Amino acid sequence: MEFPVDTEMDVTRLLSLRGKEAAALREAAHQTKIRHLGDKVYLRGLIEFSNICTKNCHYCGIRRDSAVPRYSMRPDEVLQAADFAYKQGFGSIVLQSGERRSEAFTSLIEQLVKEIMHRSHGELGITLSLGEQSMETYARWKAAGALRYLLRIETSSPVLYARLHPADHRFEERADCLRRLRETGYLVGSGIMTGLPFQSTGQVARDLLFLRDMHVDMVGMGPYLEHEQTPLWAFRHQIPSREERYETGLNALAVLRLLMPHINMAATTAMGTLHPDGRKEALYTAANVIMPNITPVVHRKDYSLYDNKICISEPLQDTLENITRTIEAAGCTVALGEQGNPRGTR
Ligand code: SAH
Ligand code: SF4
Repeated sequence: MEFPVDTEMDVTRLLSLRGKEAAALREAAHQTKIRHLGDKVYLRGLIEFSNICTKNCHYCGIRRDSAVPRYSMRPDEVLQAADFAYKQGFGSIVLQSGERRSEAFTSLIEQLVKEIMHRSHGELGITLSLGEQSMETYARWKAAGALRYLLRIETSSPVLYARLHPADHRFEERADCLRRLRETGYLVGSGIMTGLPFQSTGQVARDLLFLRDMHVDMVGMGPYLEHEQTPLWAFRHQIPSREERYETGLNALAVLRLLMPHINMAATTAMGTLHPDGRKEALYTAANVIMPNITPVVHRKDYSLYDNKICISEPLQDTLENITRTIEAAGCTVALGEQGNPRGTR
């Protein structure tokens, strides 16, 4: 069976496939992944080091107006988590948090990145996911040793973006940040949410083509999940069923793999939350990266981007065993001691 991905119409059609046709699409993506990247899966230890956020995205459970208890890990706790990742043989870590723009925050991250580089003899690839920042801030973190940056565009439609965010959050600023990151020399990761209210299948198709045209190096893309204490909760009846979101989510990964055979793609926690086999199927179909959550267990429940997030109370060892089992069940192999940098699309 042929699966053309040249036009928006082609992609929209593929996203809507179900049953046997969807299985064939996912198998074609799987073959493409194996041909170009093999069966290795890279581990990125995810450290969600603070849920303090100055922004107010309508979908997110740790938005500024949310009543969640706030935390920030101490620098020594972050370093301990990074040491753990290094000792386990993970190729890299991801430092993620709510967005803060201040000199104190910039210099804290700068120091942490330098120290982690030092302690891991420069072997640990450091990925940052700290939201929108100035060119100068991005450059300082890069100079300190960061290698990659994750900033999802969330949607490529400025109109939909405006419905999902307060008036002072701007699509153009988000897109500019992706350009700044590229110019500063990062490997750039972006992505979208699928199954959002007010989002058509055609829009998801345009998003995937947008990611291709942006030549991103990595993609983290997952289903939108509701959070009861967010403004978007009011529109929970206007989203596809969990099953539909799951099917479209997997098809989106498959199509993106056909569009961008070489990039790194993550099997996201949101896919695993939506369906017990979500991450396994994502890995089989298209993904070659997974991010074990290595945030200390005491903080995990407060990094509540959405309701019922998985792995919030299990001990670290269980998380790792689960991840290894998931990777093996998908017929893939765990890549240890390798950063797993994408070959790039530029
Ligand atoms: N503050 C940073 C990083 C943390 S949020 C930033 O916004 O870039 C990381 C990602 O979580 C966001 O990009 C968004 O795509 C995702 N996210 C937030 N709320 C979500 C929800 N309710 N369902 C699914 N994903 C969500
Ligand atoms: Fe803050 Fe990121 Fe959540 Fe937006 S998505 S509210 S920037 S943590």
